[in-house]
Amino acid sequence: MRAMVLDAPGTPLRAVDLPVPEPAHGQVLLRVRACGVCRTDLHVVDGELPDAKLPLVPGHQIVGEDVETGERLGVPWLGWTCGECRYCRSGRENLCERARFTGYQLDGGYAQHAVAARRFCFPLPDGYPDAQAAPLLCAGLIGYRALRLAGEAERLGFYGFGAAAHILVQVARWQGRRVFAFTHAGDEAAQSLALELGAEWTGDALGPAPDELDAAIVFATAGELVPAALRALARGGTVVCAGIHMSDIPSFPYGLLWGERVVRSVANLTRRDGEEFLALAPAVPVRTEVEEYPLERANDALARLRAGEVRGAAVLVV
Ligand SMILES: [Zn+2]
Ligand SMILES: [Zn+2]
Repeated sequence: MRAMVLDAPGTPLRAVDLPVPEPAHGQVLLRVRACGVCRTDLHVVDGELPDAKLPLVPGHQIVGEDVETGERLGVPWLGWTCGECRYCRSGRENLCERARFTGYQLDGGYAQHAVAARRFCFPLPDGYPDAQAAPLLCAGLIGYRALRLAGEAERLGFYGFGAAAHILVQVARWQGRRVFAFTHAGDEAAQSLALELGAEWTGDALGPAPDELDAAIVFATAGELVPAALRALARGGTVVCAGIHMSDIPSFPYGLLWGERVVRSVANLTRRDGEEFLALAPAVPVRTEVEEYPLERANDALARLRAGEVRGAAVLVV
């Protein structure tokens, strides 16, 4: 099978031929139809996440067809958990210390075939073509977890407007919330997409906010956005850091946190998040905006994502 492989962090992916993987007990073999490109893939490729399996097939938003049954399945970031630890046994499998992640410790979907543990795969809602379904699997469902952890906030700020935010703004509007999109100053492409999808305001993430926020979700990876978001937050509000990697957060005066403000992260997903979000997406209905690339152009897709040039989500079509 054709695959795009990472040999070492900091190097481009290489197009290679690999043997089709053999499914182990409890796994399915999928013919990959599409695989979303996520910022986390960049963190893996750039070596910001340590100890990746090498060589590695990246990609954790896999839309594939079970070669035995023909069923269309989605494979998310959470690839395996132990099922035994205190986190797994208390509905928090996203925190399992022995968890293994797709496209990081397990080969992912930048390839013509992939294997995945069946119990972590999701049936995908009808009505989404393969490429449009792919971003639901990480941008959508980890974003959805972040939105849930933001609480009942009415006035919601999104810091960074990429794949996750373009999905979550639609969910938040459908829930009756107000959304403010904070981007790089002058990022007109992201700002116009945000307004088109229901944000009521867009502007510079480091400039003044138009109103107090009840919660903020920081999708971007710049630590300086955390005190910026705190500055915009009403008392009792929450800043949720949605990314797996962030640059250091600069120190800030305690007064920004005072008033029962909260800063928290969101880690990974549970299967329950996936089931809830994939039932919700067609009800909203969430529409995903995707840029499609052939498998061999994975490096171009990653480069555009790194440069902040992708409108919506990038997807490899296999
Ligand atoms: Zn566990
Ligand atoms: Zn992801």
